[in-house]
Amino acid sequence: MRIDIMTLFPEMCESVLSSSIIGRARENGYVEINCHNIRDFTEDKHNRVDDSPYGGGMGMIMQTQPIASCFEHICEETGEKPYLVYMSPQGNVLTQAKVREFSQMKNLVLLCGHYEGVDERVIEELVDEEISIGDYVLTGGELPALVLADSVSRMIPGVLSDNECFEDESHYSGLLEHPQYTRPFEWRGRKVPEILLSGHHANIEKWRHEKALERTFHKRPDMIEKADLSKKDKEYIEKLKKE
Ligand code: SAM
Repeated sequence: MRIDIMTLFPEMCESVLSSSIIGRARENGYVEINCHNIRDFTEDKHNRVDDSPYGGGMGMIMQTQPIASCFEHICEETGEKPYLVYMSPQGNVLTQAKVREFSQMKNLVLLCGHYEGVDERVIEELVDEEISIGDYVLTGGELPALVLADSVSRMIPGVLSDNECFEDESHYSGLLEHPQYTRPFEWRGRKVPEILLSGHHANIEKWRHEKALERTFHKRPDMIEKADLSKKDKEYIEKLKKE
């Protein structure tokens, strides 16, 4: 998969994307991520990429031309018009289901706004979808783009090793993940649940599944409402409601 990030601060994105699991995945060719500086594409002789808003008001608006030229450059490189996502507090909030959908694309382009955002005509003309990472406002789209690129990349086969697999993790199955423990066995008087030392895989799986149901029920009842639960799971939830 190829992800292109259009930004005014490519070095901000590069420093994160060169580290840890995603950095390794890029080096090993499991995912290609390119950061493009929108300013490199401006035709303004003073290298400007933004201007004040029509109608007056505070802040600066990113102009159409540099963004469109940067996107056209990416289209030429990929040989197609890739799906373009504008990172925006006005978009749908990112979910694991959306992440999974994006991870199946061949090419994905992320546009990072800055200042007061981008000229509306960019959204009308080029953008396929607006995505938010939550109901709050950041100074720029770089952190949201990194959140999206990270969450999408880790679902690409080969990016995570088998023991880092995402399938048991929170949200993937519609439930939160069960609690996890590592050595030492006892810390500040708190012991690891005995069942995890039993070596009985079926019982451990059952315990983990019940714990996942339990903590989703307590921490995120909204997720339990939407989860695809078996008859046994529903009975377990009914039992929890009576406790
Ligand atoms: N004036 C815009 C508004 O009220 O909708 C906010 C602009 S914000 C200060 C600058 C840029 O940060 C946006 O263009 C967007 O790319 C990014 N951004 C801010 N908050 C975001 C969020 N919650 N999710 C995704 N992107 C966000």
